[in-house]
Amino acid sequence: MQTIKNVCVYCGASPRVSERYLDAAAEVGKILASNQLGLVYGGGRMGLMGTVANSVLENGGKAIGIIPKHLQDREARHDELNELHIVDSMHTRKHMMVERSDAFIILPGGYGTLDEAFEILTWKQLGLHQKPILFLNMHNFWTPLKELKQHLFDEAFIKAEDLKLFSIIDTPAQIVPALLAQLTVEAVPA
Ligand code: AMP
Repeated sequence: MQTIKNVCVYCGASPRVSERYLDAAAEVGKILASNQLGLVYGGGRMGLMGTVANSVLENGGKAIGIIPKHLQDREARHDELNELHIVDSMHTRKHMMVERSDAFIILPGGYGTLDEAFEILTWKQLGLHQKPILFLNMHNFWTPLKELKQHLFDEAFIKAEDLKLFSIIDTPAQIVPALLAQLTVEAVPA
């Protein structure tokens, strides 16, 4: 039976975003900590990334950061985490984040978040892992992705089974039920 111990959160590092995204990111950190789910993330203090990590720590949870050495200053390395791994490259960071995580949650973010999210999604499509993937549609941020997903399907670039590779949820309160639902679905043979 697959269990979830650590959850990887991919999200934006921009410090200029609206407070409403930061508030929702703090809520995510609280939910992870209160459900004894460890956080795996990019290891910085900036933007939603730093907010999620600080909220996990403030609520008594465990936070693991993985940051490439060349980004330590740019993304303001977080020195108060339970574990901080300073690695040689972006590739090592990505690989380690995946290895250490049992599920993935994608919050609002920019190009970096999209890159990480689509890599983990395509790895699942190719059968390299079966871990749950959730996009948290806070303040409708990922609504264009819902439309894009349908468009990819309508134009036959993805199959019906690919539509089920990830879920889009609307509120942080849906995180734990959605993770459990994905595990249940994946535990039942097709
Ligand atoms: P962004 O969504 O652009 O704010 O970036 C969020 C995080 O993704 C930051 O920590 C970036 O360093 C990271 N990132 C950006 N590009 C990549 C990449 N190609 N591989 C791994 N992480 C990345």
